[in-house]
Amino acid sequence: MDAELTDRERIAAAIGELVDRGYTTMPPWSVCCSNCGWAEIARRVDAPRDDLPQDLKTVWWHEQNDSYAFAEGAGVIPQTTAFMEILDHIEDDEADQWLQEHAHDIEADSVLARLTEYATLRAPLYLHWLGDKNEIAAALRAQGLRVTIPFDETKCLVVLPMQTAFRARPVNGEVVLEIDDEQIQLTAEDARKLVRRLNQAARQAEQQMPHL
Ligand SMILES: [Zn+2]
Repeated sequence: MDAELTDRERIAAAIGELVDRGYTTMPPWSVCCSNCGWAEIARRVDAPRDDLPQDLKTVWWHEQNDSYAFAEGAGVIPQTTAFMEILDHIEDDEADQWLQEHAHDIEADSVLARLTEYATLRAPLYLHWLGDKNEIAAALRAQGLRVTIPFDETKCLVVLPMQTAFRARPVNGEVVLEIDDEQIQLTAEDARKLVRRLNQAARQAEQQMPHL
């Protein structure tokens, strides 16, 4: 695992591995929601939407998920800073025509913004999938990503943001928990209780996960 990689690069590397193993995927900005996504996957494997091949392996997410995960649900990801500066210089009475003429540039720039300025996970990323959930999770984890595997085959796999770095280390018979930059010193007994509680909360969160 390369510490210099962005979350997007890690995810891309994992998806690339899975594509090599026969998974079908597509860029998230090419589909707006899960309905459109399944329709597009069906089109790509040349099968009816309601009769996908039994052995189909696929993993993907959609534009709304992407904006939620990388821009904290701030809606559609805006253009790059450089592009916003260009937009600022367009006079109002020319704006409509300019926007029409540059529709493709805007689309391309929005993708560029996702790949560069919005490359760090801020919220959970929900992955739609068919195939082997453990295989998908293993590919993502091999890139250093944190992944929650659903119990239920119809629910999404979830890639979690990395910002909350959680580490525990023993110090003089006590346990120091490091959560991001904060340190909390606990007795070993309290640390065990807390870890139990956190594991419980994680299981509950997994059970309550919406199927987007
Ligand atoms: Zn849609």
